[in-house]
Amino acid sequence: MSHYNIPKVQTAAVIDHSGDSIRIDHEFPVKPANELLPGECLVKLECSGACHTDLHAALGDWPVSAKTPLVGGHEGVGIIVATGQNTFNSPVKTGDRVGIKWLADSCLNCEHCKKGREQNCLKAKLSGFTVDGTFQEYVVSYVNHVTPIPEGIASDEAASVLCAGVTVYRAIKYSQTNPCDWIVIPGGGGGLGHLAIQYARVRGLRVIAVDTGSEKKELCLELGAEKWIDFKECQDIVAEIRTITDGGAHSAVVTSASGSGYRQAVDYLRPGGTLMAVGLPGKSTLEASIFFTVFKSISILGSYVGNRQDATEAIEIAARGDVKVHFTTKPLKELGNVYEGMKSGKIAGRIVLNMSQR
Ligand SMILES: [Zn+2]
Ligand SMILES: [Zn+2]
Repeated sequence: MSHYNIPKVQTAAVIDHSGDSIRIDHEFPVKPANELLPGECLVKLECSGACHTDLHAALGDWPVSAKTPLVGGHEGVGIIVATGQNTFNSPVKTGDRVGIKWLADSCLNCEHCKKGREQNCLKAKLSGFTVDGTFQEYVVSYVNHVTPIPEGIASDEAASVLCAGVTVYRAIKYSQTNPCDWIVIPGGGGGLGHLAIQYARVRGLRVIAVDTGSEKKELCLELGAEKWIDFKECQDIVAEIRTITDGGAHSAVVTSASGSGYRQAVDYLRPGGTLMAVGLPGKSTLEASIFFTVFKSISILGSYVGNRQDATEAIEIAARGDVKVHFTTKPLKELGNVYEGMKSGKIAGRIVLNMSQR
């Protein structure tokens, strides 16, 4: 139940059918507090990051499709204003500030959940994909899976940590690297890459950022990349990385949508190196030399977002000030334009939509 004043309708950004453009609905229903199921909570959102995945969900260009009509979004931060009756042992309560990530809920009892791979749970609910997400003022979420947001970080600063941050944090955590190892971050100046550089530095890794342009170069070096490679200027990226690292990098976090990024990584990794695949392009296949993958004992590992513990660790590191998201704030009604910007690759850093901005 709730002592908050919860309206019956709200503003939401809705996709009616896959491929449709965004419709801003000012009469979208809010689930009444007394209809929340045990384990559900209602979160009044302050803001939500916009992720490339939201664009895939809206366009319906993945091998798996989203529900429709759909409210997208999975980088939300807000306050719990109500919890379902008969919710027992909840780790959060009304009034708490929490984050909503891609993995909205999982069963917690299957083999995958018990092994800490909650994202692979067959009963997983995905925010802004199989359940309505954070591009609305009030979202229904799940007490066991919301991420408590510590003090010391503003809501808009925390938003993009919940997907972009968690995703690269987990990939680096499982990259089988030790402090002082070399890690390559292709796309280091982008939304995922600029966070990957910072999380890699927190873990004591030496970073080679690969991207293009003087603006991104400056950003990558400022964030702690030790070496910079401009892929438009460098004649031979593989040779350059092998020279810098004296024989090859220990790991690479590849977010690329094209197969060639993977082939190149197998070539510039040192024997025993680890390729972490984190991008989710709809159709590309992984292209790499089987001979050299075997001959060099390369590990190619898929890393899919993160579990509750990964989210807590990623957000706590950010709250301590060791990782900062570079973002621009816009009102929710701008979401359609944000998608257009994503399609043309024109967005620098991350976009955070503010729910109270009109
Ligand atoms: Zn995302
Ligand atoms: Zn499960």
